[in-house]
Amino acid sequence: LTEKEQEVIDEIEEEGIDFLRLQFTDILGVVKNVSVPARQAEKAFTDGIYFDGSSIEGFVRIQESDMRLKPDPDTFAILPWRQDEESASARLICDIINTSTNEPFEGDPRYVLQQAIDRAEEHGYDVNVAPEPEFFLFKHDEDGYATTEFADQGGYFDLAPKDLASDVRRDIIFALEDMGFEIEASHHEVAEGQYEINFEYDDALTTADNVATFRTVVRAVAAQHDLHATFMPKPVPRINGSGMHTHISLFEDGENAFHDSSDEFDLSETAHSFLAGILDHAQAITAVTNPTVNSYKRLVPGYEAPVYVAWSDRNRSALIRKPAARVPAASRVEARFPDPSCNPYLAFAALLTAGMDGIERDLEAPDPVRENIYEFDEAKRDEYGISTLPTNLGEAIEELENDEVIYNGLGDHVGEKFVEAKKSEFKDYLVDVSQWELDEYLEKF
Ligand code: GLN
Ligand code: MG
Ligand code: MG
Ligand code: MG
Repeated sequence: LTEKEQEVIDEIEEEGIDFLRLQFTDILGVVKNVSVPARQAEKAFTDGIYFDGSSIEGFVRIQESDMRLKPDPDTFAILPWRQDEESASARLICDIINTSTNEPFEGDPRYVLQQAIDRAEEHGYDVNVAPEPEFFLFKHDEDGYATTEFADQGGYFDLAPKDLASDVRRDIIFALEDMGFEIEASHHEVAEGQYEINFEYDDALTTADNVATFRTVVRAVAAQHDLHATFMPKPVPRINGSGMHTHISLFEDGENAFHDSSDEFDLSETAHSFLAGILDHAQAITAVTNPTVNSYKRLVPGYEAPVYVAWSDRNRSALIRKPAARVPAASRVEARFPDPSCNPYLAFAALLTAGMDGIERDLEAPDPVRENIYEFDEAKRDEYGISTLPTNLGEAIEELENDEVIYNGLGDHVGEKFVEAKKSEFKDYLVDVSQWELDEYLEKF
């Protein structure tokens, strides 16, 4: 056992933990748990815990189904919403090992992100990421099913008493802090029933772990208050959807490699190339950062979500924004297109792969666009060289298949399974008949 592993085992005993939830995510970003009695902790660290990978979406076929979970001791956290009950639980996030080769399993999204991070590290960079996940809180109906009835009627930054859900938000923040999160800010978002909680930046892998945890915690605490929390990107039409703005910077020898005070925008050449890489691959990245049919209902003009591939140091209609930075260490780029239905490991991997490709190819960023791009017509967009994001999941997947850099960044296993799963999701959507169609046509024709 390593020192850290021993520390975890000691803490399990001291805190009287009964169960360990060994956590990982499938390719679609759904968090999975294998629960084991806490006395198996030592065995989990030394031998790993075996499970059947064939029952996990996109993992493996039946005939090669034995997988092994290898818990990462740095991710130990006691689950705060179970503490008062008789059996206390803690979770550990795991890497997945292929038992036939004893190597990391290529279908593990955490491994895909690790590969992208390794590539940045080969260039001498550490990757920092901070997300701004947004979500809605809705009421349940009498039978306990989620509705789209808002939990409150507040607006952007409104305070109580209109913000009835602020108790829930407070409990969510307490639970997150108990699990080691540094919460930077939390506020009511633009739409009714919509919230945002920002947590401090960390290395890319830790932040992806945190996003997975965050979604679990938010949903669990909301459920305790009899509310449903959803990270679905556009649950209610014609109002703002939920995004997950993602701030990225690269550090080199402890210094921010994105900062250059001699530049008009305080961004280094490295940062300019990085953001040029994201602009260059934006269409394919979208398949990963905006991976649901519903994601594309959010990426429409007029709701503070990006539609056009451009960057800006001012306005929020652009795909990438350069936020004002108080100190050099805070210089960063903000990708505004990801939404919280993404698999955070794959989404960060895709963004990072694109950015590093921009750096490797020494790409130059175009001029920033300072006007409201929603108001541009096609001629003006052409003049500025601004392209458009895919308008639906089907188009996005095609873009991903045609973009070798982003596809290869996912690796063959994940690339193939992801495309396959998303094509079938889109096909299923296409044959469905929506409420809008019934409202529009049922009586007219
Ligand atoms: N909800 C908006 C989106 O979809 C963002 C709003 C904001 O954070 N200013 O991205
Ligand atoms: Mg914000
Ligand atoms: Mg926001
Ligand atoms: Mg933001």
